[in-house]
Amino acid sequence: MTTLLLATTNAGKKREFEHLFRDFDIDLKTLADFSDAPDVEETGETFKENAGLKAETISRRYNISTLADDSGLAVKALGGRPGVYSARYAGVERNDQANVEKVLEELKDVPKEEREATFYCVLALAIPGKATRYIEGTLSGYITKEPIGHEGFGYDPIFYVPHLGKTLAELTSDEKNKISHRAQAFQTLKELWPEIEGDLK
Ligand code: IMP
Repeated sequence: MTTLLLATTNAGKKREFEHLFRDFDIDLKTLADFSDAPDVEETGETFKENAGLKAETISRRYNISTLADDSGLAVKALGGRPGVYSARYAGVERNDQANVEKVLEELKDVPKEEREATFYCVLALAIPGKATRYIEGTLSGYITKEPIGHEGFGYDPIFYVPHLGKTLAELTSDEKNKISHRAQAFQTLKELWPEIEGDLK
């Protein structure tokens, strides 16, 4: 059976991938299965660089095909920020509320029609001896004037999805998983899988 290592220790991400690959014959592992896993610093300037860095470092270390992801929010009026700093935008790692407040404060004088934003998810698949493959998923919307809704995480309460007339934080996880940047990248990965599978060991 093919082994694929997910470059994360996050059990939630593992569950999402297990669901995605449920029809395929794949033995999924995460870094939680390796006690000496290196902590890869996200020093890249783009989501693609960071995802590639994680996948390639881990793949080289264990000589196993490795999938990594990087995601975040880019706000047009902020020149693409928070971007790769999404998780730590307000300084402290993963303080969602502080990050949201910082974005709202920076946009306080920006009118509704100029508050466009995009969520990005880049998957990097590093297979030993092969060129790294990259797959991107995006979701476009607008930043609201204030947080709305209590579901989800991160910037969900201030991300308005025009075609649904709701923020991501007003959606159930099933609803979000149909449209999110991550879901779109996963879907593309799944479609490309038959072509990728031959390269795996
Ligand atoms: P990472 O991809 O785990 O490095 O973190 C990306 C950061 O981007 C998260 O901590 C969130 O702040 C933000 N982010 C990524 N995806 C989402 C999402 O689906 N909703 C809200 N925020 C997100």
